[in-house]
Amino acid sequence: SHHVSLHTNRNDELGDLANSITKLSNELERMKSERNEFLGSISHELRTPVTYIKGYAEIMNRPQLSREDIVSFSKIIQEEAEKLAELIRNLFELAKMDQHNFVIVRENVKICDVLYSVEKRIRPVLSEKNIHLTVNCPDGLEAYVDPNRLQQVLLNILDNARKYSSKGSQIIIDALETDDYMTIAIQDEGEGIPKDDLPYVFERLYRVEKSRSRHSGGSGLGLPIAKEIVMSHGGKMTIDSELGVGTTVTIILPKGE
Ligand code: ADP
Repeated sequence: SHHVSLHTNRNDELGDLANSITKLSNELERMKSERNEFLGSISHELRTPVTYIKGYAEIMNRPQLSREDIVSFSKIIQEEAEKLAELIRNLFELAKMDQHNFVIVRENVKICDVLYSVEKRIRPVLSEKNIHLTVNCPDGLEAYVDPNRLQQVLLNILDNARKYSSKGSQIIIDALETDDYMTIAIQDEGEGIPKDDLPYVFERLYRVEKSRSRHSGGSGLGLPIAKEIVMSHGGKMTIDSELGVGTTVTIILPKGE
């Protein structure tokens, strides 16, 4: 009977092993198809601006173009080239993050100073749309973060708030602190995000309604990059939104090392 039980144990072990291998190979398949899907999206995203650039460059060869046409076509070419450059920059940044080649240089940072400098930087573009920005920050709030990366995250979120808000609306930034953490919430009164899309907005190249964000120049990489940066600080990033009411993006970061 000793023999039999050993035998059964071995069979159990083999069964477990076979199960693990099946699970692993399913997981590999899933990763492969995810990667293929991502590569497909990337080539689509890269192709679109190239198509515009080629098309308008060709049109500009036609005789008897008015000065106005030339100015407007060359503007389109410049904008599309800028989109392309931005897309490549962002893809490269994500690739570095995936390889853990992403450098974060932390120091003790006065968070309100970062918020005010971000405010100063974005104010001109906000005023083009007559958007009013309020920053509420408790004096003396400090955290051990990379100030440039934090600035990048905030500019990203604020640029979304601007893009998807209508003229004359409000954006409010609220910074708060607890014993170990600080929270920065960026609230807008923009068009909001449909419930069904909300779980996916942190996925790479995901966009709500391709056309709306194509029109506003988005690439669908802003939020994923911001989230990676926040997570590499040991923090969390969440988004709440109601269609037609507005969106709040919240980042939570540990204050200490
Ligand atoms: P994009 O570069 O297209 O803005 P993001 O990754 O920054 O890409 O955002 C993903 C999608 O989430 C956007 O395409 C947009 O539809 C939606 N979104 C993000 N922020 C907001 C916001 N503040 N208000 C409304 N929609 C937003």
